[in-house]
Amino acid sequence: MEPLDRSTVWPYDASGEPGTFVYQRYAHPTGAAAEERLGALEGGDALLFSSGTAAVTACVFALCRPGATVALAEGAYYGTGVTFAQFAPWGLEVVEFDQTGDPPGEADVVWVEAPANPILTQPNWEALRAHPAPVVCDATLSTPVYLRSLDEGADVALHSATKYLTGHHDALLGATITRGGGIRERLYAARMRLGLSAAPDAAAALLQGLDTLEVRVRRQTETATELARRLSEHPAVERVRYPGIAGVIAFDVADARAVETSTRLIGNMTSLGGVRSSMESRHRWEGDRIPRGLLRLSVGVEDVDALWDDLAQALGR
Ligand code: PLP
Repeated sequence: MEPLDRSTVWPYDASGEPGTFVYQRYAHPTGAAAEERLGALEGGDALLFSSGTAAVTACVFALCRPGATVALAEGAYYGTGVTFAQFAPWGLEVVEFDQTGDPPGEADVVWVEAPANPILTQPNWEALRAHPAPVVCDATLSTPVYLRSLDEGADVALHSATKYLTGHHDALLGATITRGGGIRERLYAARMRLGLSAAPDAAAALLQGLDTLEVRVRRQTETATELARRLSEHPAVERVRYPGIAGVIAFDVADARAVETSTRLIGNMTSLGGVRSSMESRHRWEGDRIPRGLLRLSVGVEDVDALWDDLAQALGR
């Protein structure tokens, strides 16, 4: 087990020179150990941030100049667009595009999500490789178990590690993984200068989460595959979206609020990727961008029949 070190400061060496660790905002041993492990899984250099949103913010500072245009995948995590909107006074332009096709030619940065949360479309990697702009791939829902986005051609792989990577709904954490090109240095500068650093406790949660990541995510996939099949045969379900990997399913019903408030085992709450299943209507947050009846279900590691019984009783059999 890697030790958890909560120090914010480390002494200079005997000659008064700074050592590897100086001050927690710059880097800390628990974070460095977790970055090493995550970087090996993704095939690049990992950096941790205080949240997925802090990692998004660091990418804006590392990759965009005032007046830049970001092409953002339609149906991607709502909060990413909200974060970009904070940069409108700096002249950041956002254009949405269908990530199953070509990104707009004028984009300075292309931002995709694999798969998009909660619409669950997948990016078109061939089109992305043909585009000259740097590509950021938010791979939160795939995890490195199913996708190494740097191998596909992304310049930055990004995670809300709050989700599957830590996996227990008990740590707020973000990560980027890059491979050369000076991007890591720019992300590191943004982290340290803007104070976007991850706490040691969250980094320790990542170390622990990575020990079980593959087992959890494979089990979640198995259960989600079966639940998606049963949902698609249920008369109260109008549409099921499931990409065949990981644990997130989106399905449409006539009255999402009635279904989400009727489950007992599945928590009616936001977030995803934990060992405990959660479900919510996204319309409450995203408005008419999302179908009113869409429910996002994040499948945990509970028994598949217990989850189905809960869903079936909430759907009214
Ligand atoms: N990216 C995706 C796909 C997400 O689902 C989320 C959070 O829901 C984020 C980024 C933001 O992460 P955080 O909540 O850790 O700031």
